[in-house]
Amino acid sequence: MRKKRLLILGGGFAGLDIARSIGKSRAARDYWDTLLIDKENFFQFNPLLPAVAVGAVETRHIVYPLRDMARHRQIRFIKNKATHIDLTRREALLHNNLVMSYDTLVIAVGSVTNYYNVPGAQEHTRPFKTIVDAMYLRARVVELFEMAEQAETAEHRAKLLSFVIVGGGVTGVEVAAELMDMARDTLLPKYPHLDRKDLSVTIIEGGDRIIPAARPEHSAYVYRFLVRRGVRMLIGRPAARVEPKCVHLADGSKVEGFTIIWTAGVRPPDLVTGLPVLHIKDGRVRVDDYLRALDPEGKPIEEVFVAGDCAASLRPDGAYQPALSQTGVAMGTYIGGSLVKRAKGKPVTPFRFKPAGYIISLGKHSSVLELFGVPLSGKLAWLLWAAAYLIKMVGFRKQLEVGIDHLTHMIFEHDSSQILNRRQILSDEELNLSLGR
Ligand SMILES: Cc1cc2nc3c(=O)[nH]c(=O)nc-3n(C[C@H](O)[C@H](O)[C@H](O)COP(=O)(O)OP(=O)(O)OC[C@H]3O[C@@H](n4cnc5c(N)ncnc54)[C@H](O)[C@@H]3O)c2cc1C
Repeated sequence: MRKKRLLILGGGFAGLDIARSIGKSRAARDYWDTLLIDKENFFQFNPLLPAVAVGAVETRHIVYPLRDMARHRQIRFIKNKATHIDLTRREALLHNNLVMSYDTLVIAVGSVTNYYNVPGAQEHTRPFKTIVDAMYLRARVVELFEMAEQAETAEHRAKLLSFVIVGGGVTGVEVAAELMDMARDTLLPKYPHLDRKDLSVTIIEGGDRIIPAARPEHSAYVYRFLVRRGVRMLIGRPAARVEPKCVHLADGSKVEGFTIIWTAGVRPPDLVTGLPVLHIKDGRVRVDDYLRALDPEGKPIEEVFVAGDCAASLRPDGAYQPALSQTGVAMGTYIGGSLVKRAKGKPVTPFRFKPAGYIISLGKHSSVLELFGVPLSGKLAWLLWAAAYLIKMVGFRKQLEVGIDHLTHMIFEHDSSQILNRRQILSDEELNLSLGR
């Protein structure tokens, strides 16, 4: 019997777990001819990106080569980008015009930065979504300290060291907290001409509180924590327009920043939003209880599954599952398990998932979390944060590497070396501005 062609698009939290489930079962390997396609050849552990951005965790320690997994689990992998999916012909078109046909498709391509059509946002801000974004931010922060150290006026120093983060969700507050730790505790003491008052970090949040996904008392806790660390908080003040080095707010005021980071939200990629299926308002694909995509009439499309950030799965309370790594893992494990069951001729049960809670890191040795309804904050929460993510890292090697990073970081300060070329970090225009021209 010909093996069924299973095509998995995206090797992130959801896709990786599907591939691993299939690979673990001999029956599934005999039944499915599995091909995993990802535009990168590695999996990246997003929750630790803010820590990478300040060097608290080493860059390579949070990525895992998909090819190693593919070889180990005896499935096929290619690095390529899917550009179009033809649901009628059951084909995916790849970047180099390669066509991949399938019997069963899993779409798990995650999300992209959402600029909410704010004019100038995409052009004049930096996203914070990939390992490259994190590496870039770290290099940029250190480089700007080096330049500010040589600036001649206080005004010039303050201009170079002004950081603005648009979006006070989990990513925004984690980046702000890590940035403050690195800037205040590690960098400032090393630059004799720089002072705390030269540095500014501002969070702009359009909603009425930061981290809306967390319980209100945690939002308030994080707000107070960041204000104590010196972060300027502009809450309930949406960004309306962005110009180079300046965010205009809806109330008519403006905030200047030499580095503007956009962490205001995500949406599914165009590959997904362009599909002729049922979408919810934020662009995610509506799926049924078996995580099959629904067609525009609301009927399940056989053999097309959607998982992770691009899937909208309805919970019993009428809300949609949140776009989180734990949701991605749960969906991936479920689809993987269902495909294994099918290979073994066993019946498949519907998808059920209740998030365990959330964990928000606030930099060196502080976190807030809620696990199974129990809230916690402070150092103990940080230890639980570190332990939880250590357990979730893919493979023993990565667990060891990140564990050693955490231990090292408990004893020593951030590494402040900057190894990129200045021209790789700053545009010509920025170079002129930074030199005071
Ligand atoms: C900075 C940051 C911090 C975060 N922190 C947390 C946190 O603390 N806790 C939490 O629960 N969640 C966190 N998240 C969210 C979490 O990372 C996502 O919910 C999760 O990654 C979703 O899993 P996924 O499999 O849907 O997508 P991803 O893990 O993003 O994987 C998608 C994969 O698809 C690939 N891909 C994309 N487009 C294509 C294409 N066209 N063709 C081929 N391959 C493609 C990508 O390269 C990627 O490997 C964070 C996200 C970010 C960016």
